[in-house]
Amino acid sequence: MLPSSFEYHRPTTIDEALDLLASLGDDAKVLAGGQSLIPMMKLRFAAPAHLVDINRIEGLDAIEETGEELHIGALVRHNQLAGSDLIRSKYPMIAAAAPQIADPLVRNLGTIGGSLTHCDPSGDLGAVTLAANARVVLKSKDGEREVPVTEFLADTFQSSIAPNELLTKIRITSPTGAYGGTYLKLERKIGDYATVAVATRLMMSNGSIGTAGIGLTSVGLTNIKATAAEDALVGQAPSQELFAEAGRLAAAASSPVSDVRGSEQYKRHMVEVYVRRGLTRSAEMAGAA
Ligand SMILES: Cc1cc2nc3c(=O)[nH]c(=O)nc-3n(C[C@H](O)[C@H](O)[C@H](O)COP(=O)(O)OP(=O)(O)OC[C@H]3O[C@@H](n4cnc5c(N)ncnc54)[C@H](O)[C@@H]3O)c2cc1C
Repeated sequence: MLPSSFEYHRPTTIDEALDLLASLGDDAKVLAGGQSLIPMMKLRFAAPAHLVDINRIEGLDAIEETGEELHIGALVRHNQLAGSDLIRSKYPMIAAAAPQIADPLVRNLGTIGGSLTHCDPSGDLGAVTLAANARVVLKSKDGEREVPVTEFLADTFQSSIAPNELLTKIRITSPTGAYGGTYLKLERKIGDYATVAVATRLMMSNGSIGTAGIGLTSVGLTNIKATAAEDALVGQAPSQELFAEAGRLAAAASSPVSDVRGSEQYKRHMVEVYVRRGLTRSAEMAGAA
């Protein structure tokens, strides 16, 4: 199907984009990689009267560490994340997830900003950023605000961004001490959305777990941050019993539904298994297994 007609805007600066979003309001949609928005428009699930294409805006595609934080620009493509030396060397959970998103065509175009704003519970980067306690930076003509991803991923296909706002970057506190992380994704075939996927990370502090992060994909109405499981880990020495208990708590926090990819029970079981395996792998990377 063809999308309904729209007016196309191509700002070259953030200020220009913010002016457009302020004046066009609800009638406009930001266009990033187009990998979710264009299919939605073709199916007429979305019919914006205006598209604000942000791809010509410079400076939105950087991956850099500033002070003690990682900053990922909203226009960073999945492939760019997968190929980044900085990500590979210091952010193993993100490095594990990025190459597992979709297929090479989608990874070449799809962006982290688009992925998070689209708020698909099957999106891989939602779980990763939840596990990383990430924050998103939202800009509008009225200023800038920083929102934790836990609040940003408000509901199914519904982020908490306002129509006049542009997501400009994602901020993640850099790891310290010994740490590890990974992303385990169960998919029917390469390029598919997850049947179940789990993001895990651990940061050690004096032999105990100082920080734990667990994010779940495709097992609820949004990506899920398994906070009870995270809390159970903090302050404890890593062990298989502890990781198994965290797996049980994460599975209890999930609410999968039966579909062609598997039964509700199977998916819940896989959350338990993947959390345990992901934490074991993370602890090994941190030299704490
Ligand atoms: C065949 C296929 C397979 C896929 N498989 C997977 C998968 O396995 N895992 C996965 O995680 N994803 C998958 N995706 C989705 C893919 O990751 C998309 O790239 C992503 O969901 C949207 O990113 P985008 O840059 O293309 O955003 P767009 O499609 O351009 O935009 C998506 C939404 O976000 C808004 N938006 C985008 N950027 C901004 C911004 N900076 N500020 C404000 N609003 C913004 C848009 O207005 C729109 O509402 C798949 C997509 C396809 C087509």
